[in-house]
Amino acid sequence: PGSDVATKAPTKTHCPYCALQCGMEIGPGLEISPRTDIPANASGALCQKGWTAGELLTNGERLTAPLLHGEPVEWDVALDYVAYRLSAIRAEHGPDAVAVFGGGGLTNEKAYSLGKFARVALATSQIDYNGRFCMSSAAAASTKAFGMDRGMPFPITDLGDADVVLLAGGNVAETMPPFVRHLTGPRMIVIDPRRTQTAKLAWLHLQPTPGTDLALALGMLHLAIADELVDEAYVAARTTGFEEVRISLASWWPERVERITGVPVHQMRQAVRAMAAVDKAYILTGRGAEQHAKGTDTVSAFINLALALGLPGTYGSGYGCVTGQGNGQGGREHGQKADQLPGYRKIDDPAARAHMAKVWGIPAEDIPGPGRSAYELLDALGTPGGPRALLLFGSNPVISAPASEHVAERIGALDLLVTCDFVMSETAALADVVFPVTQWAEESGTMTNLEGRVLLRNRAVAPPEGVRSDLDVLAGLAERLGEHRFETEPVKVFDELRRASQGGLADYSGITYERITEETGVFWPCPSPGHPGTPRPFLDSFATPDGRAVFVPVQHRPPAEETDADYPVHLSTGRVLAHYQSGAQTRRIAQLVQAAPEPFVELHPDLAEQLGITAGDIVRVSSRRGESKAVARISDAIRRDTVFMPFHWEGANRLTNPALDPTSKMPEFKVCAVRVERDS
Ligand code: SF4
Repeated sequence: PGSDVATKAPTKTHCPYCALQCGMEIGPGLEISPRTDIPANASGALCQKGWTAGELLTNGERLTAPLLHGEPVEWDVALDYVAYRLSAIRAEHGPDAVAVFGGGGLTNEKAYSLGKFARVALATSQIDYNGRFCMSSAAAASTKAFGMDRGMPFPITDLGDADVVLLAGGNVAETMPPFVRHLTGPRMIVIDPRRTQTAKLAWLHLQPTPGTDLALALGMLHLAIADELVDEAYVAARTTGFEEVRISLASWWPERVERITGVPVHQMRQAVRAMAAVDKAYILTGRGAEQHAKGTDTVSAFINLALALGLPGTYGSGYGCVTGQGNGQGGREHGQKADQLPGYRKIDDPAARAHMAKVWGIPAEDIPGPGRSAYELLDALGTPGGPRALLLFGSNPVISAPASEHVAERIGALDLLVTCDFVMSETAALADVVFPVTQWAEESGTMTNLEGRVLLRNRAVAPPEGVRSDLDVLAGLAERLGEHRFETEPVKVFDELRRASQGGLADYSGITYERITEETGVFWPCPSPGHPGTPRPFLDSFATPDGRAVFVPVQHRPPAEETDADYPVHLSTGRVLAHYQSGAQTRRIAQLVQAAPEPFVELHPDLAEQLGITAGDIVRVSSRRGESKAVARISDAIRRDTVFMPFHWEGANRLTNPALDPTSKMPEFKVCAVRVERDS
């Protein structure tokens, strides 16, 4: 780290990792301590990842010079080379031959600039980001039901006052432990095929077969109707479409759902009655429910249940998505998605295009149309008609994309791969050019946490010599491509983002760095400087044309890949406490490596016995897409028909299925069919 490490007072900022965005201070010696003014972790909690985040700044594997084919070069040399190659590829194959891939951990300023860079400097439609693999199903379902997706549309502290919270497919005790402190008051109902650390805290744990959450939600709503637990007054006053959904549920009688899911009818009834009997209840979904080829419909089914019980838009109750990546919420609002423009606008909306054309100073018809979604984009790399060059920011798809060996092959077929990284990630190792960039505490920028609260990360230390911001990379390349309208100061980028978002759903125009500091975050929408922000946007009406929430009829169907004689076991993937996402950061922190040194396969004792596997054996797991080896862990916390692997290491995603949700384009990370054997 550079020379201004030794500031006198600790710097107030936020954790580099998950969407809780815990407040923390960094002292002169890079010591981390929790802030108590940020509601997400006002209790003073941080998890192991947060406590050790200071070590990221001094990590010995830090990149400090641009690499051109593995050799350190001057910044100008690397920028000139990339600009030259991009120009040549565009001249030969057209603008869509260059693709941009972003990340849900980038600040709002970077996410916004990336979208602008793709559309204005490159004129390519080929931009998407890794958040497509995270919250896209919940975002799509929330938009259908409420007209707007704002993750949890209520402050996290509201959860503590609830009587019951149902969490479908989330393991917050491991992914974001301080979240659990908001759940100590309510009765917790957890839906998860594993008895996770979160499920162990639950009053009731429903343990469905992987890939059947949708059926479970339908069965629960069927029960709510049959047992006359529907909030008829709320449904009549605040929703549309209930009758159609009621009719569509006729065939989802509870005994049938029990056969599909393995969840006993009495447990479903217990859960529904518990929620219906109280004044304040929440239904939350996480990746377990969302990362499916039917993820959008699964979330719609849970939202339907919440609407039938009268929860969304009611003070003290609601539906919310527990967003995962640090800026998963803001990252999907400001233009790095294939189908969106800043302010959460649709790219094919003429009014949105006209607005952005004005902000960017280009003709509206020059803004390219929607491009490929994340997996579709990766799958098309190097194919005839597909992108020939890829610029990658804040993402490591060789580890985090489904069917990852196939993705690595596609990346290998590119004419040019450029990444921005602060350490040599597995994907950066394949790159023609790597730009060494700043990380969390080395620059300022805003993050929007899982509540929709816009927060400010303050620069605490100078970056190492030779390191620049992603904003500098974008501006440097844009300039060489003849485009001079790119700011590099985060606050100036934010001012432009405010103008760009004005009038959109995610309206940030009234938010300033000063306000965020004074008010410890501001909730969007915040359409003017005098506006207080909107902690609970749906209390009066939803963001639909008639102000009513919409019931969306959906039907269950099996996973895209079912078990069979060749691949007889379900695989589910997820996280462990000590690591974050692809592990590029956390696998470089000694304490975290010590806590969780290697990938593992969790399997039930009965399955282990059947396969002749004992704890500590090396196990080979194979799917139709690849093979992976890991250490066996035997646990009765998992179903007999399922194995679990964490995805922070190379391996788990060699196996996963890239079958896509038709609406959100979310891959089916959470269930596929595998064969499990002891490695001889
Ligand atoms: Fe908080 Fe998440 Fe950081 Fe842990 S990783 S300290 S839960 S923001």
